[in-house]
Amino acid sequence: MSAAARRFGAYDLTVLLDGIFEAPKTVLSHAAGEDATRRLVDSWPGDKISIDVNCYLLTGPNGVTLIDAGTGDHWGPMLGKARAALAAAGVRPEQVDRVLLTHLHGDHALGLLDGDRAWLPRAEILIPERDLAFYGDPAVAETFPPARRGNFKTAADLARAYAGRVRTIAPGPVEGLPDIEAVPLPGHTPGQSGYRIGEGRDSLLIWADAIHLGDPQIEDPEVGLTYDLDPAQAVQSRRVLLEEAARHGWLVTGSHVSRTGRIEAGAGDRGWRFVED
Ligand SMILES: [Zn+2]
Repeated sequence: MSAAARRFGAYDLTVLLDGIFEAPKTVLSHAAGEDATRRLVDSWPGDKISIDVNCYLLTGPNGVTLIDAGTGDHWGPMLGKARAALAAAGVRPEQVDRVLLTHLHGDHALGLLDGDRAWLPRAEILIPERDLAFYGDPAVAETFPPARRGNFKTAADLARAYAGRVRTIAPGPVEGLPDIEAVPLPGHTPGQSGYRIGEGRDSLLIWADAIHLGDPQIEDPEVGLTYDLDPAQAVQSRRVLLEEAARHGWLVTGSHVSRTGRIEAGAGDRGWRFVED
């Protein structure tokens, strides 16, 4: 999908590329166990994974909506470009009415913060209810080692910076936003939500981080990244997502998979395949 707006339901959608995220290929994992993980890592071309980081601008009923907000200036110079992309699309921060977060990870939510202040002066922040319940709970944070509490800090910083403007979002039709449905995709985080925009075959499902890598995970949903908090549940969500997308013929894309296409049943023992559209 190019940076030009494309229409889904009542909305014009523009992809805002925040940048490229890279990690050593040892973040790859396979649900079948250690041997399968080793084979996957050994056969991976190159020594790293390299994925796009996207967020989205929607203009339509009830004004300007973002889905996620990128990294802001929190993750270094290869990222944080979504703000310039938003400006290039002709939208100023004070014009943004609301942000639908897919989940409370830094590459999706930290862009909402300028230091520890709100980047968007008016916007409401809608967070999947199960993610806010999890990352907003200091008692849950205590169960993580200190080095892995960043997402809990993000939740607390957002609650402070956007005091009175944070709302939770439940699965199903999103109130006040016709043609947008929140689609639960738990596993990567407890409350991760995709968003489906539009109706029927013409709708676009943004699957957030249910699939990070594209083809390798579409062909084999047991392929994952160590960033999935509950790997077994993440596999299950991928299977349901691929099955539903294939059955309904929806268009699909992802926070880290910039291509837009449809899902079809794969040949032989392949799970599914991606057909660009
Ligand atoms: Zn992500």
